[in-house]
Amino acid sequence: MTRGDIFVISAPSGSGKTTICRALLSRVEGLSLSVSCTTRERKPGERDGVDYYFVDEEKFGNMLDSNEFLETASVYGRRYGTSRSAVEAIVSKGLDAVLEIDVQGGASVKAAVPGAVRIGILPPDGETLRARLTARDRDSRQEIEKRLAAARLEIRELGNYDYLVVNDDLETAVRKVEWIVRARRLRRERTMDAIDRILGKKGEERDGSSNG
Ligand code: 5GP
Repeated sequence: MTRGDIFVISAPSGSGKTTICRALLSRVEGLSLSVSCTTRERKPGERDGVDYYFVDEEKFGNMLDSNEFLETASVYGRRYGTSRSAVEAIVSKGLDAVLEIDVQGGASVKAAVPGAVRIGILPPDGETLRARLTARDRDSRQEIEKRLAAARLEIRELGNYDYLVVNDDLETAVRKVEWIVRARRLRRERTMDAIDRILGKKGEERDGSSNG
């Protein structure tokens, strides 16, 4: 069976990434979210095993030592990691895995799996980013400034991604991410067996080893 792809989706906070990912997963068949592990506190409404696997520092450290993570990163002092086996369980079934992770994680995944597709979500402009960060949080001004500085660093790093989607209109942004996923599925590597089915040939014959 053809293995699925890995789609990394990253964005600075306040860019609508989570909303876009949810909409994407509900609209596109054959996509599955890889649930990460984190040492951060569970927020109200979040469910263990659904939003994250919430683990303590010790457990996270043990998992790291046993090479259970495809990538890990520290965000605001808390640790986050993508489980190798969670991703493998998805792609080995021919499904596509969505990794909603930060840019540090995006770089590590690309290094480990060069075929991974990285999609960056951008706010329309600096003012909107500031407005969204301010509206979302009841944090202090200092905290907002800190988040803004982090967001600017992340945006710079998104310049290395494969695709960039500006979220100036939610519906349009979701549709664009959907196109990227669907277009990726039409790549030769994923559809070669269609040729084999039509020609009734096996892989080696197709590669030129046959006379006719
Ligand atoms: P939050 O704590 O708000 O859910 O997530 C904070 C940041 O960590 C977000 O940018 C989120 O995408 C990122 N994140 C979540 N899970 C992972 C992960 O497994 N690896 C990495 N590198 N980042 C993650």
